[in-house]
Amino acid sequence: MNRRMLIAGNWKMNVMNSDGLALAKGLADKIKTVEDTLFEMLVCPPYTLISSVIDVSLNTNLSVGAQNCHTLKQGPHTGDISAAMLKDLGCSYVIVGHSDRRSMHGETDFDILCKANMAIDADLKTIICVGETEDERNTENTLKVVKNQILGSVPDNATAKNTVVAYEPVWAIGSGRTPTIEEVQKVHSAIRSLLAQKLGEDTADGIRLLYGGSMNAKNAKEFLSLPDVDGGLVGGASLKVDEFWAIGQSCS
Ligand code: PEP
Repeated sequence: MNRRMLIAGNWKMNVMNSDGLALAKGLADKIKTVEDTLFEMLVCPPYTLISSVIDVSLNTNLSVGAQNCHTLKQGPHTGDISAAMLKDLGCSYVIVGHSDRRSMHGETDFDILCKANMAIDADLKTIICVGETEDERNTENTLKVVKNQILGSVPDNATAKNTVVAYEPVWAIGSGRTPTIEEVQKVHSAIRSLLAQKLGEDTADGIRLLYGGSMNAKNAKEFLSLPDVDGGLVGGASLKVDEFWAIGQSCS
C-alpha cells in the first residue's frame, strides 16, 4: 500500500500573531515550489491563529488543522470549540487525545473516541494520539497501554481517509529522548495489526501511522524510513521553518 507521508506540526500554546504568520508563510512558500510533494505538510496552530494561517495557506499545499475539539457538536460549553466549527473555519484536520490533553485535562479513551466521532461527522481528518508514560514503559506495559488506547479511542468507522494514528511515547515528548527505531517499528506494527483486527486488513493497510516525540531534522530520516512509519507529529521542531521543512525533506 502506498501511503502518502504526513508531516504534522503541533504548535501547542506557542506563537503570537506575527511569528505564526511568518512561520506559515515560510512553509507555504516552500511547499508551493514543490510540484507534487512526496509528503503532505500540516500545521496545527493554536485556535487564535487558525483563521489567518488558513488565509496564508490558500492555493498552496499546506494543510491546516486544530489541536483539539469538543466531544459534542454544540451547546452550553463555554470556551470550547466543536469539530463542526473547525470545519466551518476551513480546517482539514484535528488532533485528538494528545498526551497533554490526557494528562492535564483528564481526557479518557472514551472522550477521545467521542471527539474522533465528531471530527469524522464534521468531515475532518482526525489524528488520534496514543502512547505510554515512562512508568508504563519501565514496567514493560507499552504494548498493553497502546492496545487499550487504540481499542478504546479509534471509531468503528475509521478509514484511511478520515483517520491517522500518532504513536507518541509520553516520555519522549519535548524531552530530547526517543525510543530506538526497533522499538518504534515494533509498536507501529502492533498498532497496524490491532487496526486490522478492528477495521479489516485493507483499511489498516491504508491508515497512516505517525511517530511523535522529539523528532527533529537530524533523527527524522531514521524514523521515516521504517516500514510502518508514515510521517511524524512534531512539536518543538515544527516552530522553525527550516527545521520543519528539513523533516519533510527526510521523507524522500
Ligand atoms: C508533541 O507534542 O506532539 C511532540 C511530539 O512534541 P516534541 O516534538 O517537541 O517532542
